[in-house]
Amino acid sequence: MNELIIFLMSLSLHTVHITFDDGPNLRYTDEILTLLKEEHVKANFFMVGRNIEMYPHMVKRVVNEGHDIGGHSMTHKELTKIPFDQAKLEIYESMMLVNMYQDTKLFRFPYGSFDKRLSSYVKSLGYKNIYWDVDTTDWKYKDKDVIYKKFKVRIAEAKDGAIILMHDIHPQTVGSLRMIIDYLKERKIVIKKLDR
Ligand SMILES: [Zn+2]
Repeated sequence: MNELIIFLMSLSLHTVHITFDDGPNLRYTDEILTLLKEEHVKANFFMVGRNIEMYPHMVKRVVNEGHDIGGHSMTHKELTKIPFDQAKLEIYESMMLVNMYQDTKLFRFPYGSFDKRLSSYVKSLGYKNIYWDVDTTDWKYKDKDVIYKKFKVRIAEAKDGAIILMHDIHPQTVGSLRMIIDYLKERKIVIKKLDR
């Protein structure tokens, strides 16, 4: 895409949502919460059931600090690759668990991997299947500057209301998050939570 088009598209980006998957994690969820508080930013956390069971106090802290949570399965298996009955339980149980802490309908499939049958199941329970628009690839690269560079390219092409994907289980996420928030604030792009 040429630079003028990317520039013009970026002008129509007013709002984004920042989401963190795979936690809660004792170290990185803690660091991210501290940064979000400093920056007065609210975000969404899609949590793995097993981690919720291990660190309930972190779940409470996320909610108490004004963020929203969602289900992300119990064990983070790729749900299209396991028997349907088992996949249904992964979804249902994780939603029951997050709903003990917050009233929410948000669910995200591990690896963003789902098929028609699985998405219909999520819908039949009244839950929302949340995907993403901008993958920061913080799961792939260890260097925060590389993550930030890739983010800048992807966000320039994103539509208004874009959902940004990050993970609260990697050390590099915290540093890149700081740069990403600065980038968005400099451009007066509002960061807000998803409707739950
Ligand atoms: Zn995940």
